[in-house]
Amino acid sequence: MRLEVTRTSMPSFEEFCDEIRPLWDSHILTNMGSEHEALEAALRERLGCEVTLFANGHLALEAALEALELPAGGEVITTPFTFVSTTHAIVRRGLRPVFCDVRSQDGTLDPAGIESLITERTVAIVPVHVYGNVCDDERIRSIANRHGLKVLYDAAHAFGVRRGGLPVEALGDASILSFHATKVFSTVEGGAVCYRAAGLRQRLEDSRNFGIRDKEHCEAVGGNAKLNEFQAAMGLCNLRHLEEVLAQRRALTARYRELLADNLEVQPFPLEPDASVQSNGAYFPVLFRGQEQRDAAYAALEAAGIGARKYFWPLTSDMGCYRGKLDPGHTPVARDLSARILCLPLYPGLTEADLRNICRILL
Ligand SMILES: *Cc1c(COP(=O)(O)O)cnc(C)c1O
Repeated sequence: MRLEVTRTSMPSFEEFCDEIRPLWDSHILTNMGSEHEALEAALRERLGCEVTLFANGHLALEAALEALELPAGGEVITTPFTFVSTTHAIVRRGLRPVFCDVRSQDGTLDPAGIESLITERTVAIVPVHVYGNVCDDERIRSIANRHGLKVLYDAAHAFGVRRGGLPVEALGDASILSFHATKVFSTVEGGAVCYRAAGLRQRLEDSRNFGIRDKEHCEAVGGNAKLNEFQAAMGLCNLRHLEEVLAQRRALTARYRELLADNLEVQPFPLEPDASVQSNGAYFPVLFRGQEQRDAAYAALEAAGIGARKYFWPLTSDMGCYRGKLDPGHTPVARDLSARILCLPLYPGLTEADLRNICRILL
């Protein structure tokens, strides 16, 4: 049987049925029903910050950019080494992405590159905790403060990551999460904005539900980005098993690292993980010596029925929709990582034999 790069963690069929049974009494399937409210409350409790749920991570990103009230045409310093959603959200909000390079050790936005890109039009910084590698928030925050910029983290990869024992989901002025089926914690499709400033809440809720405040009052030009009751129910079930899923993912990651130890052609990425960070095991990226080796390994795995992913290749700044339209920036480190990185299959249920087989093919 073919192995994919990921597989969605699901509760038992019976557990999900029990969770959705009350919906057949209430007939309330969306519009912030009881499952939605229970999931939002559970996440607030878990993360220790404000949480506003959204239909998906991308709409959460767009809503957060809107709620931060960034002026149209403003420049946003961000990374091209990410999923295309990050760049699309900035462009779709009428802002201009300005691409900054990333750090070779972990692929996150390089604080040393930010200041030289700041102009009088810069309004925000949008870094990404790629693969759950936590950005250097202290330095990014101090640069942002010095220049009066907002910081919005794309934390779509980082749910469940802890640094110094604390959740990383609430860094910056806001952070967004994705609960897509390919992420460690899923509501099938879903997402959230995490934040501390209570003032953001109304604007996010307006963006999520047409700006409707009550039956007779519509006070903002909002869209529709509500998470429905079936999605929330899936989230509540998955949340019960989250620690178990994270533990299995961390164990598989540790085993992969053992199997690939002391090899110079292909190394687990990041090369030197931050000891204060407890990973969520969301991805297992490996870095090859060169692009040729990466592409050959990808093809060899494919031939053996094993799906790996060139994640992130190409850089978003090189994608067809942006080529020639946006300044691609000078991002040699991002370009180099993008050419040499490959994400290997990682999800609970992979066996020791699967890992050995994958590593044998690679080596
Ligand atoms: C998954 C992802 C998103 C988008 O989330 P969706 O829930 O799929 O809309 C945004 N940014 C990054 C880095 C992602 O991995």
